[in-house]
Amino acid sequence: METITGKSILKGIAIGRILFYQKGQQQVKRVKVEDTGREIGRYEMAKETAIRQLNELYQKAVKEVGEANAAVFEVHTMMIEDGDYVDAIVNIIESQQVNAEFAVATTGDNFSKMFAEMDDEYMQARAADVKDISERIVNILSGTESGGILGDEPVIVAADDLAPSETVQMDKEKLLAFVTRYGSANSHTAILARTMNIPALIDAPIQEEWDGKLAIVDGYSGTLYVDPEEGLLNQMKERQEEDRKAREMLHELKGKEDITLDGKKIRLYANIGGVKDVPGVLASDAAGIGLFRSEFLYLESEDYPSEESQFIAYKTVAANMAGRKVIVRTLDIGADKQVDYFKLAHEENPAMGYRAIRICLDRIDIFKTQLRALFRASAFGNISIMYPMIISVDEVRQIKKIVDLVKKELDVQGVPYKDVEQGIMIETPAAVMVSEELAKEVDFFSIGTNDLTQYTLAIDRQNSKLDNIYDSHHPAVLRMIQMTIENGHKHGCWVGICGELGADPALTKTFIEMGIDELSVSPTFVLPTRKNIREIRIEKEE
Ligand code: PEP
Ligand code: MG
Repeated sequence: METITGKSILKGIAIGRILFYQKGQQQVKRVKVEDTGREIGRYEMAKETAIRQLNELYQKAVKEVGEANAAVFEVHTMMIEDGDYVDAIVNIIESQQVNAEFAVATTGDNFSKMFAEMDDEYMQARAADVKDISERIVNILSGTESGGILGDEPVIVAADDLAPSETVQMDKEKLLAFVTRYGSANSHTAILARTMNIPALIDAPIQEEWDGKLAIVDGYSGTLYVDPEEGLLNQMKERQEEDRKAREMLHELKGKEDITLDGKKIRLYANIGGVKDVPGVLASDAAGIGLFRSEFLYLESEDYPSEESQFIAYKTVAANMAGRKVIVRTLDIGADKQVDYFKLAHEENPAMGYRAIRICLDRIDIFKTQLRALFRASAFGNISIMYPMIISVDEVRQIKKIVDLVKKELDVQGVPYKDVEQGIMIETPAAVMVSEELAKEVDFFSIGTNDLTQYTLAIDRQNSKLDNIYDSHHPAVLRMIQMTIENGHKHGCWVGICGELGADPALTKTFIEMGIDELSVSPTFVLPTRKNIREIRIEKEE
């Protein structure tokens, strides 16, 4: 048996085999072949399929985002047909007598490196494109669909690191736990693990040769046991059983009110990343959805999600929540949530860069598509909309103008929608400081404590070296929360918390004393938070 420790993201026990997940190109194996002619034929066929796919994507994109934005697919087609690129692939197959997948992946890597080193910004930007087209061909050759990362058996996924776009594509049913070598406790991958309710360890020195071995993830002590001894295995199975019983006990709280001992009612909602999390919310008995991170729809897609596909997603969530509130946050990509097809330029400091509402107010077509989908879906349930990363009143006014435009278009087209409640996330110190003015503009505030902590303390939430001083309990953060609640209430805004801190049992009472109206937490934490709320008595004020 081997044992390592890491930082635990979620308490719980998982037992299963390890699948060592390696990213993109590294997954391609080098295989010696006899018949190089056959490999070249396979490559030619995959190339033709890729060109067909790109043509279809181009046509679709022209309709949805206009010719200028669609042009990237034409560029990709040209690159796939480029003589030097094609020759390099054929040459590797013939000279090294290897499989087509390996030849394409290697050529993609070589060309991408070459472009990245050029002294020309345009050519540097092509590095990502050539990787992209190579991945497309490799996927066609190996028949890999996105999402086909996991096999049939549920596994413990081990990896160097996992991007949110990779995590979100994994089938929850097949995933027992994550163990990663790097990563930060405040990253979106960690948040996804909590939403999926699976134990996860980060900062754990995993070894590739453990691939396929039986292991135990102990999220209580932050330990991974590889090839566990029978005694330990039995002990951990018993612990799993105890956990199951404890969960069952919490189920008795279903249907009960979220109310303190002295009668203060709190709205207890859940956070989700997509339609597939809704059953978890319903099972948790949350009174609504306080944060639907809509960017996961974009992270799961290979291309800009259309108005129709977004409409279906929002409508499905709203309809399934059957009249309970569903607060959808508009696109919040950038920082650790990168989407290839947005072709965002590399930034030195992405958390403070071109992200979230800044992208939406710049690429208005993308924003309008999402707003149209949201307003259309509003006719089918109880949808509210909120906007991320706000720093000024001016941004809110710009948003309102775009919303008015969208509503007018829908009116002209006779498309029904409701007059939805609109709010903003308070997750920058700037928003806190002008929260009194912001409160006059919107219906509600939702405090994003993950980013608010990062920006208040000037600590990159992605930097695992700083996890020990990323302290959401810092008095500066708590005073910001207090100030936001007071300013919101002065002007009739209700105020909630949708960052991870909302589920921190050590602060439930403090937040209620501050006057918080809503807490939105991962579905896993709904019932434990209900239990806390129901055990609290607020000291009577003088
Ligand atoms: C937050 O910042 O607290 C938040 C809820 O948003 P995200 O974690 O997605 O940035
Ligand atoms: Mg945030």
